[in-house]
Amino acid sequence: MAEKSYAVIGLGRFGSSVVNHLHKAGYEVMAVDENEERVQEHVEAATHAVQADSTDEQALRDVGIGNFDVVVVAIGVDIQASILTTLLLKELGVKRIVAKAQNPRHGQVLYKVGADRVVFPERDMGIRVAHNLVSPNVLDF
Ligand code: ATP
Repeated sequence: MAEKSYAVIGLGRFGSSVVNHLHKAGYEVMAVDENEERVQEHVEAATHAVQADSTDEQALRDVGIGNFDVVVVAIGVDIQASILTTLLLKELGVKRIVAKAQNPRHGQVLYKVGADRVVFPERDMGIRVAHNLVSPNVLDF
């Protein structure tokens, strides 16, 4: 079975961490951001690093987004851009979309427009730390 290919849109702390980990693990990963500086910072850490506005359907087509098995939407602050990007990815036939949400309402909307999985990095990390505090014998999960 061929290995999965990934694209990560939004190269803030969260998106950057996802890109770095996937790349180090040996997967094909395309890093996308509208900010050219952020893109340049990821040239070494990704298979391809491209500058594009993910709310622009043609720009998404131009970077071949439909060819990736999994696309991670790691845009946080600009909720409108996060939602529109997720909707476009769905319309363009991306098989698996993982999106980051700022709050529960944002998460609900992301599911409605087509996200297959929504993550809440701060909340999820808080839960993980709490688990480790109360169950120190449990290995990290
Ligand atoms: P983190 O907490 O992970 O650092 P954040 O929640 O603060 O990130 P933002 O700073 O809003 O998230 O966005 C992360 C990245 O997404 C930024 O580098 C920003 O340039 C990029 N971004 C925002 N909108 C778009 C867009 N429409 N197309 C491409 N990239 C975008």
